[in-house]
Amino acid sequence: MRRQAKGHSSPHVVGSNVTHFLVKLVAVLTLFGQGFTKRTVIAFTEAALGYDKPCKFLVPGEYLVVPDSVTPTSALFEVTAPQPIQDTKIYICAKNLPPGVIDPSKDEEKHRHQGTENWKIIATHHKMLPLWATMTLILICLMFSALFSGLNLGLMSLDRTELKIISNTGTDQERKYARAIMPVRDHGNYLLCSILLGNVAVNSTFTILLDELTSGLFAVIFSTLAIVLLGEITPQAICSRHGLMVGAKSIVITKGVMALTAPMAYPVSKLLDYFLGEEIGNVYNRERLKELVKVTTDVNDLDKDEVNIISGALELRKKKVTEVMTKLEDVFMLPITSVLDFETMSEIVKSGYSRIPVYEGSRGNIVTVLFIKDLAFVDPDDNTPLRTLAQYYQNSCNFVFEDVTLDVMFKQFKDGHKGHMAFVHRINNEGEGDPFYETIGLVTLEDVIEEMIQAEIVDETDVFMDNRTKRRRNKPTNKLQDFAAFAERHENQRTHISPQLTLATFQYLNSSVDAFRPEIVSETVLRRLLRQDVIHHIKVKGKSKKDPSIYVYQQGKPVDYFVLILEGRVEVTVGRENLVFEAGPFTYFGVQALTQNIGVAESPTPSAMGSLQNINMDSMLRHSFVPDYSVVATAELFYLTVKRALYLAAKRATLMEQGALSKGQGRDQLDTELDKVRPVHIQRHCYRTWQLKGPR
Ligand code: ATP
Repeated sequence: MRRQAKGHSSPHVVGSNVTHFLVKLVAVLTLFGQGFTKRTVIAFTEAALGYDKPCKFLVPGEYLVVPDSVTPTSALFEVTAPQPIQDTKIYICAKNLPPGVIDPSKDEEKHRHQGTENWKIIATHHKMLPLWATMTLILICLMFSALFSGLNLGLMSLDRTELKIISNTGTDQERKYARAIMPVRDHGNYLLCSILLGNVAVNSTFTILLDELTSGLFAVIFSTLAIVLLGEITPQAICSRHGLMVGAKSIVITKGVMALTAPMAYPVSKLLDYFLGEEIGNVYNRERLKELVKVTTDVNDLDKDEVNIISGALELRKKKVTEVMTKLEDVFMLPITSVLDFETMSEIVKSGYSRIPVYEGSRGNIVTVLFIKDLAFVDPDDNTPLRTLAQYYQNSCNFVFEDVTLDVMFKQFKDGHKGHMAFVHRINNEGEGDPFYETIGLVTLEDVIEEMIQAEIVDETDVFMDNRTKRRRNKPTNKLQDFAAFAERHENQRTHISPQLTLATFQYLNSSVDAFRPEIVSETVLRRLLRQDVIHHIKVKGKSKKDPSIYVYQQGKPVDYFVLILEGRVEVTVGRENLVFEAGPFTYFGVQALTQNIGVAESPTPSAMGSLQNINMDSMLRHSFVPDYSVVATAELFYLTVKRALYLAAKRATLMEQGALSKGQGRDQLDTELDKVRPVHIQRHCYRTWQLKGPR
């Protein structure tokens, strides 16, 4: 092979390398061997001859060595690629021009064939695709590269849980998108493999196609930039926000790619499923869900209350009944030995609770529960023993252990079989002796719900806002509370009526008789007034119709008292025509006896309530009301009379009470004033005031 080049004899080529240029017609051919000079010329032939044979059938074109590229072992030649002839090889022919000749065409000397070894053969061929097709393919590859990496981020970041949530709660459009994606997303690993396979395939095709068009370095730089900028960053940025839409709109392509890549992607995905387990999506446990709701409060449109309810509901499982129960010592309960008289009943009403535990012996031994509704048919006058009622209704008690959690308790209350109240008990094994069950409190549905909504529920009868802290409610509960006071018997009363009737009288006067409106006679004062000797009784049996003792009012006879019929019937005869009508309970007469200011017409009262001085003066003046009708009892009669003096004393006490309250004076002082709602007292007191201050 090795042969020393002599004079202008041909060089000896041992190898070749072709470098492409952008425009493929020109290429740089590097020849390796010996004997290259500055006048070395090469040409190509299609004839396969032995080494150093004169070349025949030269392909048109002779190429002089590139100046200054000659080294002892190599030289460069810029050649124009010959017309490609399919399946035809061309061989290198070379010669050195004689000294002084620089134009190869001027030299008659034949080129020498460089042999037919593989590394000395050059082949030309047509490009597989025309330029436009290559360019189009490059663009398509780039687009797919973008789509795949976008989908990779967009679809894979939407996990199955999220898609389910969107498909149930999103807008119509979002639901449609989510439903389109869900079947594909269900095969997470398969989708991932397909997308990645597709992405890698288009990226490498892109680079190869680019390489076809350009030189290697250019292809590397350009493809890197194009893939990073257009194929990765941009689509990922878009899909991180609009992944759902892009994913749904390109679902057909995705399915196509999955089908195409199935032979490889499917088995790989099965392997991944096997080794990594199937994807289940984001799962939030209680703590995380609670935290998620809390940390997103700024961006989600939940109210503080709603956040509280969610957190509260999620915490139910962590809390025990002991944390929310009302302690046994604070529970309003009744001994089974109680009698359901007016006093007990009013205590029950006053407590505001609708379920009252009943105990036998000690408070810890709860035997039944009394429901307020069980009292519907119980007449306080009957003095029914509670035991009788308890035996009749036999309401069972629901006991739960102290470590029962609120979610379990809530479920039990929700089922409703055991009612909405439970007693909390524990096993007490302290001290000597056998362990025993000890009741420590009660819990109701309201306690659990309050914990769930993290707020206090206050109903119309609740006395406390919070039974544990004993915080009282701001707004007073309704007024029907001190009923027990009506049951008290007072020695100064000669005639007694039932507490219920006293209560009804109180309420009637308070609400229906203007002269006793709470602004004029306060409730406290009115209550005290009713404790005076104001109830009268007339028995008609055996008495004639003319008997003056059965008359409440006699026509033309002055009176200084007001009358309210409580029980029984009266006959009223009115005017000169003697019109007669009958009246029954809660009819009243003679308000004028209380309110007429005959003697002081010239000094009008400053307000309906009047001032202390006015009242004092009134009480000093003798007023009487002359009825133009008679009221006579026709059946056994109970009625209330309020004398003008007592009424004025009540008005005065009300004024003093209001003054004391507004000035923040102590209750004791007020009580002393209220005690003056006694006719004798008051009259004396008023007289003294009158003497001290004189009339206005
Ligand atoms: P309802 O609202 O159904 O009429 P209620 O007002 O009697 O019933 P709940 O609303 O269930 O009672 O409970 C309110 C609060 O009062 C709770 O904190 C509960 O523990 C407490 N509670 C209920 N009954 C009693 C009772 N007899 N004694 C003391 N506290 C009670």
